[in-house]
Amino acid sequence: MPFSKLGLTRPILQGVQAMGYKDPTPIQLRAIPPALEGRDVIASAQTGTGKTAAFGLPALQKLGAHGRCRCLILEPTRELAMQVETSIRDFARFTNIRVASIFGGVGYGAQRTALREGLDIVVATPGRLEDHLQQGTLQLRDIEILVLDEVDRMLDVGFLPPMRRIIAKCPKDRQTLFFSATLPPEIAELATFALREPVRIEIGASTSVVSTVKHGIYTVEPTRKFDMLLALLTATDYQSVIIFSRTKHGADKIAKKLRANNHSVAVLHANRSQNQRIEALQGFKSGKYEVMVATDIAARGIDVAGVSHVINYDIPQHPEDYVHRIGRTGRALQTGDAFTLITPDEGKKLAAIERFIGQKIARLKLEGFQVPPNGEAPLRPQPKKLEPRLDGRNRFGRQKNFRRRR
Ligand code: AMP
Repeated sequence: MPFSKLGLTRPILQGVQAMGYKDPTPIQLRAIPPALEGRDVIASAQTGTGKTAAFGLPALQKLGAHGRCRCLILEPTRELAMQVETSIRDFARFTNIRVASIFGGVGYGAQRTALREGLDIVVATPGRLEDHLQQGTLQLRDIEILVLDEVDRMLDVGFLPPMRRIIAKCPKDRQTLFFSATLPPEIAELATFALREPVRIEIGASTSVVSTVKHGIYTVEPTRKFDMLLALLTATDYQSVIIFSRTKHGADKIAKKLRANNHSVAVLHANRSQNQRIEALQGFKSGKYEVMVATDIAARGIDVAGVSHVINYDIPQHPEDYVHRIGRTGRALQTGDAFTLITPDEGKKLAAIERFIGQKIARLKLEGFQVPPNGEAPLRPQPKKLEPRLDGRNRFGRQKNFRRRR
């Protein structure tokens, strides 16, 4: 079914056309008609499936001519808030609807000015939104459409309590569109609080990896991980690649070493200033940097066209993060490759991921690299042998039987 049959008006359809979208994705097909009717919607859809248009297009159409802030979209991270703002602005280019994003880490000045001048749609992270509410620079009494996006991520980062407070401040007589990949009890409870007789939509299991991505595992000794990463980058014909590190410090270290090896690298993690994060993401999107090293902050929902490869330098801590990281490539049915480096003692984590996604990941070998015996089978670290000290001191250098006097 084409977009024109979904009940969207001409300026919205023109916006869709200008984006180059031909046919609606499954989540758009199923969410747009009930959302246009004013129904509440609760949807779980795989990452990168076109969620933003699924809530953005009906919201734009229903708002009509601009006025006070009538649509609030809550996002868990600053990057997502900016990205959703950009998409909505693009969809809205043939309307006079005004949109801005509001998030922490930057000054209040520009946000206050935008709010004072009048906005129809605010895309916000909960923390900064509450600041504006307290300062009286924004009110929620005119909200007609409330979008709660990536709610499971909100739970991860501890945003459920502020979200609840924000929802309670919106008028009861509103439409709520609720998106969450999974529905653990806390989120199901929030959904009951936020929604009224919602239409339920489930697009694919949240455990499924994007089908257009080929993925594989390389087993490597911990001390040779960086060498393998370099060799992989050399052996791979990539357009742009995201490398995931478990820690912020690790991400910085990888980036530094890659730069020393003449790679152009952006870094994205929570310890960087907002301006640095914006520069990294924009530079990566524009092609200034061909490699982006990131922590899981970048794994959810960040949409960068043409990411040809994802490399998990560190295996994800939670199996669901694997799905989100891998979802950075192969978006909108483009193909991509995803590689994961694992060390011999990470067999259990790998097994958990394979159980979660319900498929076995191909074991790959890189020419010139020796793998430990038995592939990824766990190698037990040998216990360190303690040499007896001959000087009568214990391992802290104290005389044996030494007692500190009270
Ligand atoms: P989202 O899940 O909203 O982040 O969208 C993922 C990617 O798919 C973005 O690059 C969108 O621009 C793109 N996209 C969304 N809907 C469509 C569509 N109907 N046709 C083609 N691309 C789309």
